[in-house]
Amino acid sequence: MILPIVAYGDPVLRKKAVPVTKDYPNLDTLIENMKETMYGAFGVGLAAPQIGLAIRLFLVDTEPFSEDEGYTEEEQEQLKNFQRVFINAEILDEEGDEWAFNEGCLSIPDVREDVFRQPKVTIKYQDENFKTHTEVFDGLIARVVQHEYDHIEGVLFTDKISSLKKRLIKGKLANISKGKINVDYRMRFPLLKKKR
Ligand SMILES: [Zn+2]
Repeated sequence: MILPIVAYGDPVLRKKAVPVTKDYPNLDTLIENMKETMYGAFGVGLAAPQIGLAIRLFLVDTEPFSEDEGYTEEEQEQLKNFQRVFINAEILDEEGDEWAFNEGCLSIPDVREDVFRQPKVTIKYQDENFKTHTEVFDGLIARVVQHEYDHIEGVLFTDKISSLKKRLIKGKLANISKGKINVDYRMRFPLLKKKR
């Protein structure tokens, strides 16, 4: 089932998400629905707060990036095959000199900005079977993981841009909250006035 994606301005996107327990009701169905929602919106990641649940769960699938130009065959292969479910993730370390990448977010349609992040991340998480893993990611995969991880900490990529750029997109963000935006996937807008 495709779930509506929560738009910028909804307080759920600002909550520090709580851990997920093994007995969380219908977790398998929730993960399936989140996958369907992410693929339906052509996203490369989706975090639970984006569908209205402030729990420490997010998905990443970088396959759509594998078609982009400028990557080696090996990188393309890696991006193509990277699918993960992250439960109760915890970033243990970030390394390297920050690099810029033009990020977007399903909760903030039509806004893209260069965001600086470190290139290498060590993360501990549980998979959908609650098996614990510690993995090191770099490049674009690290980038998507860091972006999604921010969501479960209540942080959005627009928090990480210069104050000048923030001012420039302020009106656009306000319109997104009000639903004044054309988007081709299901969304829920916090300030949309319902017509009666
Ligand atoms: Zn996002």
